[in-house]
Amino acid sequence: MKIAILTSGGDSAGMNAAVRAIVKCGILKGCEMWIVREGYEGLVRGNDDGGEKAGQKVNDEAEKLVEAELREKRNEITQEPDKNLLHNLRFGDGELLRDGTSEYVGGRTLKGRYIVRVGWDDVRGWFSEGGTLIGTARCAAFRTREGRAAAALNLIKEGIDALVVCGGDGSLTGADLFRSEWPSLIQDLHSQKLITSAQLEAHAHLKLVGLVGSIDNDMSMTDMTIGAPTALQRICEAIDNINSTAYSHSRAFVLEVMGRDCGWLALMAGIAGGADFTFIPEKPPTTMPWEDAMCAEIHRHRAVGKRKTIVIVAEGARDRELNPIRAEYIKDILTDRLGLDTRVTTLGHTQRGGRPCALDRILPTLQGVEAVDALLSATPETPTYMIGVQENKITRVPLMDAVKATRAVGQAMNDKEFEKALDLRGPEFMEMLLGFRAVSSLKDESEKLPANKRLRLGIIHMGAPAGGMNAATRSAVRYCIKQGHIPLAVHNGFRGLLDDNVDQPSWLGVDAWMSRGGSELGTNRTLPSVDLGGVAAKFQQFQFDAVMIIGGFEAFNSLLILDEARKYYPAFHIPMVHLPATISNNVPMTEYSLGSDTSLNALVDACDAIKQSASASRDRVFVVETQGGKCGYIATMGALALGASLVYTPEGGISLDTLRRDVKFLRTRYMLDTPGKSEGRLVIRSEAASSVYTTSVLTKMFVEEGGSLFDARSASLGHTLQGGVPSPIDRSRASRLALRCMSFIEEHHEKLSQKPHKARQAGPETAAVITIQEGDVKWVPVQEMVKHADMANRRGRTNWWAFVTDLVEQLAGKPQFLGAKQSDFPKNLKV
Ligand code: ADP
Repeated sequence: MKIAILTSGGDSAGMNAAVRAIVKCGILKGCEMWIVREGYEGLVRGNDDGGEKAGQKVNDEAEKLVEAELREKRNEITQEPDKNLLHNLRFGDGELLRDGTSEYVGGRTLKGRYIVRVGWDDVRGWFSEGGTLIGTARCAAFRTREGRAAAALNLIKEGIDALVVCGGDGSLTGADLFRSEWPSLIQDLHSQKLITSAQLEAHAHLKLVGLVGSIDNDMSMTDMTIGAPTALQRICEAIDNINSTAYSHSRAFVLEVMGRDCGWLALMAGIAGGADFTFIPEKPPTTMPWEDAMCAEIHRHRAVGKRKTIVIVAEGARDRELNPIRAEYIKDILTDRLGLDTRVTTLGHTQRGGRPCALDRILPTLQGVEAVDALLSATPETPTYMIGVQENKITRVPLMDAVKATRAVGQAMNDKEFEKALDLRGPEFMEMLLGFRAVSSLKDESEKLPANKRLRLGIIHMGAPAGGMNAATRSAVRYCIKQGHIPLAVHNGFRGLLDDNVDQPSWLGVDAWMSRGGSELGTNRTLPSVDLGGVAAKFQQFQFDAVMIIGGFEAFNSLLILDEARKYYPAFHIPMVHLPATISNNVPMTEYSLGSDTSLNALVDACDAIKQSASASRDRVFVVETQGGKCGYIATMGALALGASLVYTPEGGISLDTLRRDVKFLRTRYMLDTPGKSEGRLVIRSEAASSVYTTSVLTKMFVEEGGSLFDARSASLGHTLQGGVPSPIDRSRASRLALRCMSFIEEHHEKLSQKPHKARQAGPETAAVITIQEGDVKWVPVQEMVKHADMANRRGRTNWWAFVTDLVEQLAGKPQFLGAKQSDFPKNLKV
């Protein structure tokens, strides 16, 4: 199959990762891979030299001639496809794209070719680049039937009838229209004698798949669009920076963020950036006049001593009468009514650009792989699919259903049916909205729970610090204060508890914690078993009605110990929860723990720099050692996000056989690089992958075996992987999970408190771990968890990400390079 890929509409980070994955995966499946420059514009323009005889106006005589030639060509096509990766290594066009020598100049590329074939090596290094390297454009011509007919002709000229479109809902609507019109378009082309009967027959159907590339995260039926996480990251970086200047001058800032008609970016930025107020299109202010409500809220914040105010406005924010709510207007209100020194910051296009974050490399890669599979299995009867991600699984949904559902949200808002719009955005969106309100607003005493429902919550951090621990604590503390509960921060883990190192944090005290890395409470690995009786006594002394332990495997272990000790100590008969937070992501049963996203980003940042240095010396392999204990999650996902050549995990181990093959693979790979144009390559090794084949042993081995082909160096990332500032994904996840923990605690506290104190027997369900399974939040009693834990290796018995290890090697071409025979190589090379 010949597959062409184009990116269209607004650019977004991660588009390159998608193109790269599709090109590589297509080649691995024996397809010929093409890219279309400048989106639909390139498709409509086509190639100056395209099509040779076919495609020029054909008269009947010429048609016969062309048909004979085409029949021959078709025979070629029906032969076994060229599965040899080595024949697909280079076509050069990708290189040209990167060098910028064929940029779009005055509506024409220098070479006058918009549809070009690419090889395996053309897309290397594309991961770390923002935007789209193959170009995108808005194209009016494609909206017309004539334009689409030209596009069809240009594809047929190159013998292509499979297309991947990566873009927003506009681009995908265009794509769907193109596919449905295809049969009639090519009939027209045939009757105009622009294509031959043979071409008409050979390209009767267009196979098409859509990927959603959009920073807005506005597409229905997928949880995340390509580029949205990076855009959110850019916004949060801006808010973090603004926070410090706002604090210094005691200023208010009104930030306008992108998102068109979707409030996802604004809402998530509001949560992750710890904003005071947000305006989003789906939920216009209900209290009118809203200016009064906003001022009252911000005044309450200022009254408790807050020095900074951040208001986030989505570009599509409107009031209930659909009048736009503008940043400048909000600024005037804050200045005039509250006397605040207020500034407006419009983030604009900085939100689009920049290096993609880890998630914007991982998801597009997985989606790209699925897109190629979808094309290969497409028949004229199958619908046009859109590849998305739902509940942590890559999905295929009928493209038009997704576009229709997306349009329905816009329609609902235009019809002022905001409840419906929110409903259509899905339950998680609503949860985030309520969550933002719960942690950002300050309530009066009259709005709090009655005294008999209030509780005292102990919050403890355990194990190594992880991004999001403080964010989770902030949300729990603020929720407690909102409800009238008493949050009690235990400093320095169970050791601190035994030393009475406990205090009551305030609403303002935790204000800046959203963006703080590490652990504000302090953490260590001391388990409660160090002095169970003492711990029980402290639970009684501080009158804990519930306990929240935030941490990794130790936290899970602590909860287990406390649960088992309920037999002896009544003080433990209270709801106790564990919120997983560890960069290793080794807590059983949960797909994500807080900190793992931050850590992946830290890994990607460090390795981008390392790879640059490795590439500068042209022929260098970097062996990068990651943390992660006995769990290879960070190493594996990091390898996928970085396009590493090899990955070694504790689960897979390292053997002499593997090493022998890996050395052969690396030698073959370097041998096939264009001389002088080798690239630096990464090998990711988890710290516990092997006690014998250490990072230093591996590096020395590669140096020895690389000979004149390549050199090797090592880097150990160690604690840098804990990351500095937590990622927005970790922050918002922290907030969401902490609030879920609070509902769990309140519910079980209420049930328990109906019994007299002495008779309280908390069941096993009240000591539980909050997990994410298939994207859903699920509670697992800690006793149940034990069945799924490999206690000796401190990880789960199964890993959802196990398949990624193979994928990393496939996308590096390891099986193909290893399977290559001497005859596959250029004649002058000896393997
Ligand atoms: P996005 O894909 O980000 O939503 P646009 O809405 O601007 O961005 O669409 C990008 C391109 O997709 C347009 O310039 C046009 O070429 C094509 N397109 C959009 N809508 C249609 C449509 N209804 N029919 C045909 N082509 C369309």
